[in-house]
Amino acid sequence: CGIMGYIGFREAQPILINGLRKLEYRGYDSAGIAICDGSSIAISKAKGRIDVLENQTNESRLHGSIGIGHTRWATHGRPSDENSHPHFDQTGKFSIVHNGIIENYLELKEELIERGVVFTSETDTEVIAHLLSENYDGDLVTTVQKVATKIRGAFALGVMSEHEPDKLIAVRVASPLIIGVGAGENFIGSDIPAVLEHTRDVYVLEDYDLAVLTKDSVSVMSLQTNEPIERDLMRIEWD
Ligand code: GLU
Repeated sequence: CGIMGYIGFREAQPILINGLRKLEYRGYDSAGIAICDGSSIAISKAKGRIDVLENQTNESRLHGSIGIGHTRWATHGRPSDENSHPHFDQTGKFSIVHNGIIENYLELKEELIERGVVFTSETDTEVIAHLLSENYDGDLVTTVQKVATKIRGAFALGVMSEHEPDKLIAVRVASPLIIGVGAGENFIGSDIPAVLEHTRDVYVLEDYDLAVLTKDSVSVMSLQTNEPIERDLMRIEWD
């Protein structure tokens, strides 16, 4: 039940794992991370504690300075390695983490299966990865916006793609999400403690916000209309 994202100049792996640890209080049954090294995405995920993920990830050594991480509290599909997030499409070029529930996932899943898509998990989340891949039009932002019109429910999302390895996308609909603003690096978190050791400058997203993060910029816009949105940059004074 937590999301952590990083884009910047440092190795993402320890930042993601430490961020997930700060979100442990929210409860979880599995954890995972996906890291892009500038061209390809590698994923490490496992049922169980973050220590299990950390040991597994240390063996596989995921290098790169852009990534997304997740702690899962299973709602659809039992806790298992396969059902852990991040989820991915058939090309492996899109990777996503999701907190919440996609209410209409069964009908979307049936349609995707009819079109030949093979699923690797039992989650509601996985439909989003396949829909991103199917609808990709050369622009990750407009593709995420299009897919958002097809899914119903509660979703905080972190999205990453090999097609555009210079950005992360965050979406908030009825599930909390914040953006931490650093110098040459930016963060996504489910909650402020996830990013506090790195920055005290935070945007708290509101429902139907879409944020685009590069290592040097954060822009917030409407998920539905593309209008730029000005959210106040909050300075966190507490520890
Ligand atoms: N519904 C998703 C799943 O069961 C996400 C659960 C969560 O918020 O952690 O995989």
